[in-house]
Amino acid sequence: MANGMFIKVEVDAVAAKDAAVTKKLTEVCPVNIFAPKDDGSLRIIDENLDECTLCDLCVQAFPGKVKVVKLYE
Ligand code: SF4
Repeated sequence: MANGMFIKVEVDAVAAKDAAVTKKLTEVCPVNIFAPKDDGSLRIIDENLDECTLCDLCVQAFPGKVKVVKLYE
């Protein structure tokens, strides 16, 4: 698969602008897929997506706002 990416993370557009959401996601993800932008909104680090362990912590932190979508199968 192109550049090895096998999942994508979808975050609710309003939640992704919330600095508190960004902070929490940055804390919970063990492989640094989330980071804050300069304005505190959420940045998803595409280069780290293939490190995702499917641990589900980001989804559990914000049920219904964060989705981890598998791109295979
Ligand atoms: S499932 Fe786990 S590893 Fe994957 S993005 Fe969410 S917190 Fe990070």
